[in-house]
Amino acid sequence: MAQKRTGCGCLIAVLIAIAIIIFGVLYYLRTRRTEEQLPPPSGGQLNVHVLDIGQGDSILIRTPSNKAVLIDAGNPGNGKKILAALNGYGVNQIDLLVATHAHADHIGAADEVIKGIPVRQVLDSGVENDTKNYADFLAAIDERMDAPDKYLTATPGQRFDLGDGVFLTVLAPTQPLFKKEDLRGGGNEPNANSIIMRLDYGEFSMLLTGDAEAQTEDRLIQAGARLEADVLKVGHHGSRYATSEDFIERGRFTDAIISNGEDNRYGHPSQDVLDRLRAGKVNIYRTDLQGEITITSNGSERYEIKPAREATGDIATGRKPDRDDSSRTGFIQYGDFGPARRPTQANANNRNANNRNANTSSRRTANNNNRGR
Ligand SMILES: [Zn+2]
Repeated sequence: MAQKRTGCGCLIAVLIAIAIIIFGVLYYLRTRRTEEQLPPPSGGQLNVHVLDIGQGDSILIRTPSNKAVLIDAGNPGNGKKILAALNGYGVNQIDLLVATHAHADHIGAADEVIKGIPVRQVLDSGVENDTKNYADFLAAIDERMDAPDKYLTATPGQRFDLGDGVFLTVLAPTQPLFKKEDLRGGGNEPNANSIIMRLDYGEFSMLLTGDAEAQTEDRLIQAGARLEADVLKVGHHGSRYATSEDFIERGRFTDAIISNGEDNRYGHPSQDVLDRLRAGKVNIYRTDLQGEITITSNGSERYEIKPAREATGDIATGRKPDRDDSSRTGFIQYGDFGPARRPTQANANNRNANNRNANTSSRRTANNNNRGR
């Protein structure tokens, strides 16, 4: 009887292994083969604005024909700021609003945005959250959006043709979604199932990772996903549990943008991540120190990165969390802390003393910027 059970267990293990291999091959073919068939760029200007909305994410993509994609919508109350930015850039409709995951520092002001400007489609991770904020987001979609295909759930290989040769492709979340019990200490379900996308425009590419951490990165590496990109939007605001050495090696990024807030209490970005990026010769930009970061490409090999201001501190120095999470038993999650501390006069003086020159970067000149940092 015991023997029979062992044999059955082996068969199941073999079937699972075969299923994983088949899934991996299909995933590889879906996300990779079609990359080579993308039409050429129109040569017009593509802009990506990593908005300065404090401790959270909100990233605006504007195509040469003024199509607009907003990836995340910051914290509750950020709506005014985001709408002002959209208005300033002449955006009068959002073609696609991507909610990478249902945490309040990503979908916080999504309802405010949907109420403030026409939004055609929403792309959701499919992982729900039991918060009023997420309910408000869904209610705003119901009440304010009209398109029959207004609500989409992300699936790998899904591709959005934005015209002019600009494409957004979904790489994650992959099935089966991560469950709480799958995650190592430090992991978090909504983060692990974040929507990860790549933006392609001719020779230019950018990887947008939401708050995904190393376990999600590992899964993409195992599946052979196309991760090489010029620019990385660093996962989880520079958390130490994201942006692994393997991921940096596989991505071969030239530049990395960290979207985080000044005086955040989570220790974002961590010194570990900054050190790993520098070891990989990746240039670092930070919204907490440099404000909004704008990337401009015409689809050629050369592209530009412009921060809004000179850095108000040392880009290579990380922040310390309010609580030590080195044991990983006390993992710090969004909402564990109250609002950010108010900057003190001493901090402000220190920041002024540390002023640095802002960097403008391109693939050809990028590595020079890294030296001496
Ligand atoms: Zn976040």
